[in-house]
This record gives sequence, C-alpha cells and structure tokens, in this order.
Amino acid sequence: MTKSIFITGKIPEIGIKMLKDKGYLIDSNPKESILTQRKLIKFLKNKDYDAVLCFLTDKIDRHVFDAVPSIKLYANYATGYDNIDVMEAKKRNIHIANAPADMSSEAVAEHTIALMLALAARIVEADEFVRQGKYKGWRAMNFIGTDILGKTLGLIGAGRIGERVAYYSKGLGMKILYTDLVRNERIEKEHGAVYLKSVEEILKISDVVSLHVPLLDSTKHLINKSNLSLMKPASFLINTSRGAVVDEKDLLEALQKKVISAAALDVFEFEPDIAPGLLRLDNVILTPHIASASIEARNQMAEIAAQNIIDFLEGKTPKNIVNK
Ligand code: NAD
Repeated sequence: MTKSIFITGKIPEIGIKMLKDKGYLIDSNPKESILTQRKLIKFLKNKDYDAVLCFLTDKIDRHVFDAVPSIKLYANYATGYDNIDVMEAKKRNIHIANAPADMSSEAVAEHTIALMLALAARIVEADEFVRQGKYKGWRAMNFIGTDILGKTLGLIGAGRIGERVAYYSKGLGMKILYTDLVRNERIEKEHGAVYLKSVEEILKISDVVSLHVPLLDSTKHLINKSNLSLMKPASFLINTSRGAVVDEKDLLEALQKKVISAAALDVFEFEPDIAPGLLRLDNVILTPHIASASIEARNQMAEIAAQNIIDFLEGKTPKNIVNK
C-alpha cells in the first residue's frame, strides 16, 4: 500500500523529492502559518498517515498520540526536540527522530559570532540611528564599542554548536572557557578551551557568555536572577539555544538595571511572544529564531528528516532516533 506522509510546513524541495522518489504520497499544511495542536490533529485525522515530518513549533504530546495512535514516526525538522514528549512516545512505541545537520551547527555558530560582533561594535543600534536620520557627522565618542580580541568567551554547553563557536572565537583571538556535563577533549586540544566545573565560574570570569545546551528540566532557567548577578557589568550574554534556558523576566531586569551590558537573543522563553520590555531596550539584539536558517543547513535538515522517514518506512532504524 502506498505510504502517506504529512509535513507540517514548507521545507526545501530536496527533501520532498527524496520522499516522492520513493512513491510516497505527501500532504502538507497548505498555509505557512504555525499549526495549533487542534489544527494539527485535524489534519492528521484526515488520512491514515504513516509518518509526520514536524517542526519545533508543533507540540507533539499525548493529545496527538491519543488522536492518531497509528502514526509511529515523528521526524522533527530540528536538532532540538523539546517540542515533543519523547518519554510518552517511548511508552507507546512511537519513534521520534531529530535532524542534527552539520550545516545547522555551522549556521548557528556563525549566527552566534555575528551576534557577538554586532554587540561589540553596536551595529544594530548604529543602524537604527542612521535610519532615523540622526547621523549629523563624525563624532569621536559616537557609539563606542569594544574589541573582541583578547576577551574571554564562556561557553555553556560544548557539543556540536559550542565546538564550532570555539573554532571561530579562537580565530578572533579570544580565550575560551567552557562548562559541560562531560569534558570535551577535542575542544580543549584543538581550540585551547579550558574546562570549568560550574556555570557560576563561567559567568564570573567571562566577557561574553554563549549558551549551547538543550532545553531539559535540568537546563530550564539555568540563567536566572541570582547567577546573572555574578556576571561582569561589561559582559554580554548570547542565547541561540532555547529561550527557556534563560529566565526572560530576570534577564530583562538585568539589562534594564545594567547588571550586564548587553544581550543577543535568537530564541525566547514564550516564543513568538517576547517580554515587551526587551523590545524597548537598546542594549539587546533580537533575531526571530533564525540561527540555523542558512540555505546549506535547511537543505541538509530536509535530507536528514526525509532519510529518517525513508529508513523507518523501509523497516530500518533511522540514524537519528532520540528515544530508543
Ligand atoms: P549537542 O547535544 O551537540 O550539545 C549540547 C551540549 O550541552 C552537550 O555537550 C551536553 O552535554 C551539554 N549539556 C546538557 N545539559 C547541560 C548542563 N546542564 N550543563 C552544561 N552542559 C550541558 O547539541 P547542539 O547541536 O550543540 O545544540 C545545542 C542546542 O542548540 C540544541 O539542543 C537546540 O536546542 C539549540 N539549537 C538552536 C538552533 C536555533 O536555530 N537557534 C538551531 C539548532 C540547535
């Protein structure tokens, strides 16, 4: 019988072609809007789907599993999979796969560096100033920023992305510190990164702190009021991991009170909602969860997600199952 796949939004053609070449029928969310769980369930009940290719904006939990129990694979189009109740899926023998594309790590690392340099050189504030017609000629003290050379970067999480951020930061002449649950010998050997045992030590010493941990119960609000107060007043915080790793209201207060100098955020605790106060601050750069949005990354993610589905439907174990 012909297999059917549901895709919850638009992905690059390369992944669609892989699935079509296998003869699978493909339906997708016709609008580019984000699906509420109710709408998603409605779509999934339309047909007997064999697998779903879903996004990090899709909440996949027992309500979905109860509604369509025959679907046994959800292939997430993302590295992170905190949008899916993987433990509940495991209990029901439902497979969950992610798409940890090398090019996605690359894109997120490059975005992180772009944010760091933009904070240091105050690019976004300055751009806004020019657009508002405020530029009346060169002044020596306009938009004084800071150099990155010789500064200390503190990585919280030194997996695939953290390691690539270390690679670029070493090239920029930074000293690199990291903390992780596990020591990463490669980051130490290749990038001279120094391991510290605690998040607190990283926060105290670093000029730039960059977050690269997954969102888990243990990492929710890992950065909060009490440990933000340990950071240097001139320091920057960059978050391209998941919003809820930082207590957004505590960060807002820290930025308002200049406990830290500035922050750059690609992810938000309650996205797409953003704490309104953040929008009014000059010392924060906000991007709409686009750190992995390079064409190279998006294509590779599509290939990986499609391959996960193909392997599963051909009776093989997909490479990226996260709840074995
Ligand atoms: P990874 O699994 O390779 O690395 C994560 C690291 O965090 C691991 O080394 C792990 O040991 C460490 N870690 C886990 N809990 C920790 C804790 N409590 N303290 C210290 N370290 C801890 O993952 P990755 O590919 O580097 O991605 C990291 C996260 O980035 C993903 O989980 C995802 O949420 C996020 N991400 C965001 C985007 C984006 O578009 N902004 C894109 C891709 C990934």
